[in-house]
Amino acid sequence: MSSPQSPVYRTPVEQKRHAQDVAKRHRTGMPKLRDMLREKYRKRIIETRTRLTDANRTVQLAELKEFLRTELSEFDKDLELEQNILDELLSDVNEWYALGEQNLETYVESDAPIQQNVLCPVCLIKPLQRQETVYRCECGIQFEHTSNMEQLERKIHQQIASHETKCTQALRFFIEPSTGRLYNMCGSCDYFSSI
Ligand SMILES: [Zn+2]
Ligand SMILES: [Zn+2]
Repeated sequence: MSSPQSPVYRTPVEQKRHAQDVAKRHRTGMPKLRDMLREKYRKRIIETRTRLTDANRTVQLAELKEFLRTELSEFDKDLELEQNILDELLSDVNEWYALGEQNLETYVESDAPIQQNVLCPVCLIKPLQRQETVYRCECGIQFEHTSNMEQLERKIHQQIASHETKCTQALRFFIEPSTGRLYNMCGSCDYFSSI
């Protein structure tokens, strides 16, 4: 069977989504350029973070901003559009860092002789406390896990990193009520996983 020339939007949900996409495309302009840059940017940020494990976010952002400006200058036609794209991508990155940076910090600190606290992945404010296989946080969450603190932290970090290779939105962690276990999901892509 050959594929249709153009997609058909059958259900009201699909039609609505399509209409929203079209409206957004009109509003934002040059979606291909934006998508292409976002994809490049994702790869670049991972490279930068791997290389500059001891650098802080300001240094990394400065470097990435420079990279973006260079990329955008090749399309030096519409300065306002260029600035809009730059602003939008940088705000993506800030959001992305909000979760990732916490993890990067604990990752870097794990070489230190004193074991650092592992931040609660749900509230991202208080440290996790462990009592045998039960983890708790002052924010009120509680879940069971057989891993020790270090292993758990590594698992959380791995999932964040895995999601980050495909998506710029922050992964959210939550306790699934029926099982009482720690899960994560993304509201933007289909990423969903238990820890
Ligand atoms: Zn918490
Ligand atoms: Zn996602």
